[in-house]
Amino acid sequence: MPPLEDIMVIAERGLRVSVTILATYLVAVWIATIWWTFRDIRARSGDVWLQVTATLLVAVFNFPGLLIYFILRPQQTLAQSYVESLEEEAWRRSVGDANACPACGQLVEPDFLFCPACQARLRRVCARCERPVLLSWKLCPYCGSMTGSAAPAAPVTPHVP
Ligand SMILES: [Zn+2]
Ligand SMILES: [Zn+2]
Repeated sequence: MPPLEDIMVIAERGLRVSVTILATYLVAVWIATIWWTFRDIRARSGDVWLQVTATLLVAVFNFPGLLIYFILRPQQTLAQSYVESLEEEAWRRSVGDANACPACGQLVEPDFLFCPACQARLRRVCARCERPVLLSWKLCPYCGSMTGSAAPAAPVTPHVP
């Protein structure tokens, strides 16, 4: 049976080691959350003030701060927004080239001869097959008649009231 003093010393040593481990663990978690928040907000916003504010919020309040950050952070990362804007741009370009009036940008049907908004001439009717063809086309793509050389393409001019 060891003396009581020895038991006290062992217990105190054990307690000190546990407290040190716990403190180290909490500090590691604290630093990890701050680092994670800093990287997350940098991926979501280029605003330096927002980055500093979000990181400080988590540094000071930690888990409650992290909760607030989750609620308030921008929904999309910058990479996602970039991809989305590229897709939107590509979509607008593919649709816009085919279906927009070159004079005013109004969406028009592919067989419209005139723009309903600005009255610009968009297409003419093929003399042979009577299908709408673009003014710039040299020949009718439907029947192959050389309508372009016979009737020179009139420039697209918006109607001024
Ligand atoms: Zn137009
Ligand atoms: Zn034709």
